[in-house]
Amino acid sequence: QAKSAGRRTLRFFDSSMQLQADRRLLINNELRSALDNNELLLYYQPQQMVEGGELIGVEALLRWQSPGRGMISPAEFIPIAEETDLIVDIGYWVLLQACHQFVAWQEAGLHIPQLSVNVSAKQFHAPDFVERVYEALAITGMEPTCLNLEITESVVLGHAEDTIQKMAELKALGISFAIDDFGAGYSSLSYLKRLPADELKIDRSFIQDIPHDADNMAIVEAVLAMARHMGFSVTAEGVESRQQLAFLQAQGCNFYQGFLASKPLPEANLRHYVGRLAERRAALLDT
Ligand code: C2E
Ligand code: MG
Ligand code: MG
Ligand code: MG
Repeated sequence: QAKSAGRRTLRFFDSSMQLQADRRLLINNELRSALDNNELLLYYQPQQMVEGGELIGVEALLRWQSPGRGMISPAEFIPIAEETDLIVDIGYWVLLQACHQFVAWQEAGLHIPQLSVNVSAKQFHAPDFVERVYEALAITGMEPTCLNLEITESVVLGHAEDTIQKMAELKALGISFAIDDFGAGYSSLSYLKRLPADELKIDRSFIQDIPHDADNMAIVEAVLAMARHMGFSVTAEGVESRQQLAFLQAQGCNFYQGFLASKPLPEANLRHYVGRLAERRAALLDT
C-alpha cells in the first residue's frame, strides 16, 4: 500500500518534471525561430522623478508574442534563453531595436532623456560584448550618454575583474550603468564599492509591502543612505501605490518606476503617455 502510493507520488513528480523539461525544450526551439519571424517586440516603461514626476527615461522590456502560445513573459523565456547562447543574439537584437526606437523618438521631437536596456550575465560576459555595443551605437546613431545598461548582481558574481573592466570601457564612451534588482541577489558590499555603476535599482520585493512591512522600509532607508554616501542615484522598482511614492519621497529616493505611473507600454502608447505627461507638466508650470 505505502509502496504503491510512494511510486504513484514519484511517477507524478516525474511526469510534471518531464512536462517542464519538454516545455523548456519547446520554448528554446521556438525562441530561435521567434527571433527570425519577428515575434519578439519591446515594450517601454517610463522612469520618473519621485519629486515632481518628470520623465527621466524609459526601460525597454522584451515581449514574445507567439502565434501558438500567445504572450509569453520574459520572466519565463529569458532564463531558458540564458541556458543556451541564444540570449546573446536576443540581447543584441534588443539593444539594436531599442536604440533604433530611441533615435526615432528623438527625430520625431519626443523628449525622452534616457534609454535603459537589460543585459544578461551571459551576454555581458561574451568576449565581444563591448564591440557589439559599439556596433549597435554606430549602426543606429544612438548617443552613448543617453544609454543606460542594467545588469544584475549575478553578472558580477565570480567575474568581478572582467565586469569592472568592461564597465570601465563602456563608461569611457559615456554609457551609464544601473545595478538591477538590487538587494535580491548575491550582493557583496565590497564589490559594490569597486563597481563603476551610476545607479541602484531597488528590487520590487522590497517595495511591494510598504507601508505595511517595517523591515522592508528599514532596508529601503538603509540602501538610500548608503547610495547617497557612495554617489549612486536610486530608482525604486515596482511602485504601485501613492503611499509607497510618499514614503520614497520622504526618504529622498531619486527615481521610480511602476504601475502607479505606468505599466510597460507598446511604442505607440508610450509616445502618447510621454506627450500627455509633457502637457500636464507644461500646464502645471503655467499656473
Ligand atoms: P526587470 O528588469 O527588473 O524589469 C522590471 C519588471 O517588473 C518588468 O517585468 C516590469 O513589467 C515589472 N514591473 C514594473 N513595475 C511593476 C509594478 O508596479 N508592479 C509589478 N508587479 N511589476 C512591475 P517584465 O517586463 O515581465 O520583465 C521581467 C524580467 O525579465 C526583467 O526584470 C528582466 O530581468 C527580464 N527582461 C526583460 N526584458 C529583458 C531583455 O531585453 N533582456 C534581458 N536580459 N532581460 C530582460
Ligand atoms: Mg531592468
Ligand atoms: Mg529590475
Ligand atoms: Mg526586478
